Amino acid sequence: MSTSIDIIGNAEWCSFHTLKIPAIKARIDSGAKTSSIQASNIKKFKKGNQSWVSFEINPLQDNLSISIACEAEVLDSRLVKSSSGISEKRYVIKAPIQVGTSKFEIELTLANRDGMDFRMLLGREAMRDRFLVDPSKSYLKGQVSQSELDKMYAHLMYHKTGLKIGLLASDKNLYSNKRLMEAGIARGHEMHFYNIQQCYMRLDTAFPEVRYRGGSILHDLDAVIPRIRPSMTFYGCALLRQFKAVDTYCLNSDTSISQSRDKLFSTQLFSANNIHIPITGFAKSPLDTKDLISMVGGAPLIIKLLQSAQGKGVVSAETNKAAESVINAFKSLQTNILVQEFIKEAAGKDLRCFVVNGKVIAAIERTAQKGEFRSNIHMGGSAKKAKITAEERRLAVKAAKILDLSVAGVDIIRSNRGPLLLEVNSSPGLEGIEAATGQDIANQMIIAIEKKLKYHHPNSSKTER
Ligand code: ADP
Repeated sequence: MSTSIDIIGNAEWCSFHTLKIPAIKARIDSGAKTSSIQASNIKKFKKGNQSWVSFEINPLQDNLSISIACEAEVLDSRLVKSSSGISEKRYVIKAPIQVGTSKFEIELTLANRDGMDFRMLLGREAMRDRFLVDPSKSYLKGQVSQSELDKMYAHLMYHKTGLKIGLLASDKNLYSNKRLMEAGIARGHEMHFYNIQQCYMRLDTAFPEVRYRGGSILHDLDAVIPRIRPSMTFYGCALLRQFKAVDTYCLNSDTSISQSRDKLFSTQLFSANNIHIPITGFAKSPLDTKDLISMVGGAPLIIKLLQSAQGKGVVSAETNKAAESVINAFKSLQTNILVQEFIKEAAGKDLRCFVVNGKVIAAIERTAQKGEFRSNIHMGGSAKKAKITAEERRLAVKAAKILDLSVAGVDIIRSNRGPLLLEVNSSPGLEGIEAATGQDIANQMIIAIEKKLKYHHPNSSKTER
């Protein structure tokens, strides 16, 4: 054995001057043949006749917002078995490394999906004829202090003024989404739009992740605003749970959204909490159609599909006979239905109260077009700013609270026995209500996030209400 062989510990600080990585901690892993480094956004490209890769390295496990853009020639691509036992193809590059005072060249595979708790592994090829390992020690080649790291990486530190907020939705061009992006930017925040369908998740106890198109890891968002369309509820709520796992605040949680999307469950919650609703029957293909009708007081009545949105699955039946045939038609489709007393005195009107953090910040009255009882804008209804009573305000706030929604569109119908709750929407649209009230609702939603995160906006006294 040569006397120049050094003893190293189970972990050491290394540097790569050609890759401009001044310090990165490596786990010394004699079980691995080749060394590897965690990289993201790995993209192959051509330089003349040569194959190159560009990639990003987050050298510090504790501050993943520091990112170094690197490029290197591709030496090879190899099938490597990750710690989970699954083989994956990885690019191999060559780079000069420094460990303590020793400088030499090593081969490195670019690991994309490995959940190592070190950003790098130094394998036995790199150690051969150079190092012996004392597994009971670490940093024998020198420790790097936090203040040294701060100095080395000062030029890459992200100096935040505002928050970093992600908007999770499906369509960038929808009015509400455009407004939320604008409002966030106007308040000095860094806004990012993420298409829900293009987010994916890594489920792992130690290192859960949310990744986005192309492999970027969404690890440093302060908050996300979910705008989940009904058809995306299942996946969107799973995504919100994952954001919760990586400690990102969600304006409206996964549980509150899934509860509000389940009309049956939320209606049961309302009646359990003494919130008045029109008398309602729920059934799945009942044999007792006649009894179901008389149970809610007989015709005229309303029949709704459980999945209805924008009034599309809502029909009225003027007579018991008509009700019976509509119910029986749904029955043959084996669908879940809701049968409800018809609130005649509402005269085709209902209220939409926009609740943010426990306050009604705007309210509109929607009126159905002539000959129609559904006041939805999509059904030709019109909207105007509404003055609501204290009782209606209390009802709206309570309904949002029961579902634990920070942002909610609460629909109320005015009846002879007082206001009744129709439904609560967890992604209420902004267009109709901003147009009718002239209020900047998107701005209020951004302020709600600032308040939850105790972020002090430089001009907060001027803009908050
Ligand atoms: P959706 O979720 O599809 O919008 P809603 O329950 O909100 O369904 O009903 C759509 C519209 O129909 C409401 O905005 C309201 O104008 C009218 N409507 C709903 N339920 C009743 C009812 N019980 N009595 C009278 N009108 C109703």
